[in-house]
Amino acid sequence: MAAVVFSQVQKRFASTPVIHGIDLAIRDGEFIALVGPSGCGKSTLLRLLAGLETVSSGRIAIGARDVTELDPKDRDIAMVFQNYALYPHMTVAANMAFSLEHRGRPRAEIAERVGWAAQILGLSALLERYPRQLSGGQRQRVAMGRAIVRNPQVFLFDEPLSNLDAKLRIVMRGEIKALHRKLGTTMVYVTHDQVEAMTMADRIVVLHGGRIEQVGTPLELFDRPANRFVAGFIGSPA
Ligand code: ADP
Ligand code: MG
Repeated sequence: MAAVVFSQVQKRFASTPVIHGIDLAIRDGEFIALVGPSGCGKSTLLRLLAGLETVSSGRIAIGARDVTELDPKDRDIAMVFQNYALYPHMTVAANMAFSLEHRGRPRAEIAERVGWAAQILGLSALLERYPRQLSGGQRQRVAMGRAIVRNPQVFLFDEPLSNLDAKLRIVMRGEIKALHRKLGTTMVYVTHDQVEAMTMADRIVVLHGGRIEQVGTPLELFDRPANRFVAGFIGSPA
């Protein structure tokens, strides 16, 4: 069964259409990159999936459930943002525990899940620190920790590495891929960086002006771009 299905999804802001009838099926366990130039609708598509925006028409399913009308908190997804969004006055452990506490999970379960996530992300020794006492890469790992403690069905990333310097960006690409291998969870990863998409994704969705230009593996896009736009964006010779 597909992990995520968009069926004829449209989004208008006021009367301006920004997403035009998107059909897309993401497979269970797949790492999908959404790429395209600034303003093409990447974040909007991710926010529609997260339930942070409502569709103007069309349907969205996660697993067997139609989630189109569901609240974000009922969708079984977790989102990792670009600006980390850590609480400065809370320790690493408290930052990671927050969403579980908010959902009223039992204390023992919270401790267990935070410990598990910290171990996966190499944060076990940093649990009592505050965000200002962490490096950029460590903060990024805490942001991921906040998402994985909930063990969601789907992870959403919106340009999570764009605030990091070039070297750290490459390290974190590897860490996110390692996380994907460990968890096997479906990941939808927005980036405007084609190299990031080409090196990380199982399949890439190329968006342009709120429409899908092509969906394919990095190799397919490189070898057989559907049109000049894809060729230009991916950097292949067509
Ligand atoms: P991307 O993430 O690919 O850069 P976005 O999804 O953020 O693009 O934006 C797609 C289009 O929708 C842009 O033209 C943007 O200005 C517009 N847009 C995004 N959010 C809103 C909003 N809340 N209100 C009005 N227009 C918006
Ligand atoms: Mg964006």
